Amino acid sequence: MVVTPFYVAGAPETSDDVLTVRHPGDGREVGRTAHATPEQVDRALDAAVEAAKESLPAHARAAALDAVSRSLAERADAVARLITGENGKPLKWARAEVGRAVSTFRWAAEEARRFSGELQRLDTDPAATGRIALVRRVPRGPVLGISPFNFPLNLVAHKVAPAIAVGAPIVLKPAPATPLSALLLGEILAGTDLPAGMFSILPVPNDRAPGLVADPRLPVVSFTGSGPVGWQIRDAVPRKHVTLELGGNAAAVVCADWTDFEWAASRIATFSNYQAGQSCIAVQRVLIHAASYDTLAALITEKVRGLKDGDPFDEETEVGPMISAAAAERVEAWVAEAVAAGAKVLTGGTRDGARFAPTVLADVPPEAKAWSEEVFGPVLALSRVGSDDEAFDQVNASEYGLQAGVFTRDVTVAFRAARDLKVGGVIVGDVPSYRADQMPYGGTKGSGVGREGLRSAMDDYTEPRTLVLTGL
Ligand code: NAD
Repeated sequence: MVVTPFYVAGAPETSDDVLTVRHPGDGREVGRTAHATPEQVDRALDAAVEAAKESLPAHARAAALDAVSRSLAERADAVARLITGENGKPLKWARAEVGRAVSTFRWAAEEARRFSGELQRLDTDPAATGRIALVRRVPRGPVLGISPFNFPLNLVAHKVAPAIAVGAPIVLKPAPATPLSALLLGEILAGTDLPAGMFSILPVPNDRAPGLVADPRLPVVSFTGSGPVGWQIRDAVPRKHVTLELGGNAAAVVCADWTDFEWAASRIATFSNYQAGQSCIAVQRVLIHAASYDTLAALITEKVRGLKDGDPFDEETEVGPMISAAAAERVEAWVAEAVAAGAKVLTGGTRDGARFAPTVLADVPPEAKAWSEEVFGPVLALSRVGSDDEAFDQVNASEYGLQAGVFTRDVTVAFRAARDLKVGGVIVGDVPSYRADQMPYGGTKGSGVGREGLRSAMDDYTEPRTLVLTGL
């Protein structure tokens, strides 16, 4: 099988340290690449430092980003199949991911044209009469992007596109299980007119990742992945600019006034199971007002049972395998723990290799991991609440705070949710799993620090540089 190259300062290279990529469903080989050697990493970082000395004009950045967006759109089918091959997510979700990456790059091109700074009056103070400040945003320096396996293209896009948009060189380390989508993006980037050194995409084994994090040539670290790794990174490099996009146990609240049970149940069933629950904002907990609990619990369970679980390459499949049998075994153990503590299984609860059946639990005690930790699998826990305020308290009684979904038509409840819920985003009328790629996105508490979303990441990758003019 051919060895897919990785990218060192924009140019394809390989090494003898081959990395075999396997389909999670059946373990068959879907491709090969190789780990970048320490010497290759070193060259990539030196090139990034050199590239950071040049200032790439906005028109060139925007043109490259638009070209990537168009090229991804032209190759959408092949890219989606590659994602399904290495990640196991059903083709319909892989296609959705490619569509989002197409938009992510297009939005980045638009933001690159707009991104500027501000002119500030200083003469509101008599002592500053005759002075103005010109505040530009300048790149902090080369960015290290570290991405997870669950969106192997679009979360790479969320690191790479804003970096190019502000003219910051980026070194991207993809997840070891899913490097091929990132490398295909590398091939597309290599076809643009970006200068060498603006990007490197380097598969590096996990035991060498801390060395990359610590390297002083990369002053910005943008990490998306699990909490333990993220916080370890932040502790390791307190003087770097670090953003962490971590996990959660996202909740949906069905408020007292909500009557469209069909919509709520179908959204909850779909988005607790899309990508086999391996999304940081997959619905994990549902807090349902007592008045509608029995009706909704039955409807959600029926819809979860009706999800088509099967071959991820089948266009109709809605739920595929998890990333590995080990991941599914962990979910199995957490469900067993919840059941031993008194939870009831309304449907699912079984495992076959890397597949875990779409599962609905009721009466999960709050201390069980299936409630309090991030399941990151196709498991939903339903809970009955007596009021909207009780539901909001339960949403907040979590170590995490990424997003929450609030099913209400009452604008006062919507505003109260936005004010009181300690999360990065409140989605009214839908599940917490909604994300538009241009909006600020990220979490509070254990879910991380900083925000992605193009404009937010561009702010993070840059810092204000102030020029004060006197005598005007
Ligand atoms: P992970 O933490 O195991 O790996 C993420 C990345 O970190 C990979 O590229 C991995 O190789 C790298 N890594 C591993 N050890 C490292 C180290 N010591 N130093 C530096 N890098 C290291 O996470 P995963 O299993 O790939 O992804 C799942 C997690 O990601 C879940 O917790 C999920 O919630 C989270 N996630 C968060 C968001 C978000 O935007 N908030 C989005 C997607 C996924």
